Amino acid sequence: MRESNEPSPRAGETWRDAPMQQQRGLPRALALLWRGACLRCPRCGARSLFRTWFAMYERCTVCGLRFEREQGYFLGAMYINYGVSVVLALLGSFALEYWTRPSLTQQLVLWIGFCTVFPVLFFRHSRGLWLGFDFIFDPVMAEEPRHRKTP
Ligand SMILES: [Zn+2]
Repeated sequence: MRESNEPSPRAGETWRDAPMQQQRGLPRALALLWRGACLRCPRCGARSLFRTWFAMYERCTVCGLRFEREQGYFLGAMYINYGVSVVLALLGSFALEYWTRPSLTQQLVLWIGFCTVFPVLFFRHSRGLWLGFDFIFDPVMAEEPRHRKTP
């Protein structure tokens, strides 16, 4: 499924010619991050990132973009996942301490549980965000063939 306001390239055009790729600056960056958060391909906007909860497709089923560009590519997604988890846990613990003053045991049980469950739930979105983030600075503009010949 594609975003309704972004038509796909017509015959003879590449993804570079699509409207999203012509945007520059902050609107483009925000749009790419939003696509990632919504688990959409950064190049064409199709919902084609994940086959199952944890397993990604190798390539976008619509535009053919290869998601894991190199071995260890999704290490950046782990940083995003870790950073978001820690920031939310810290802010949550400070807010809880300020308003309700729970015991240390209650705080530890709550936030250890949060830091165990949240990264699993956020896994897919952290990968999508990493793809969008990477695409901001290093876009794969060239049209990739859908069926490559193996040498
Ligand atoms: Zn795509």
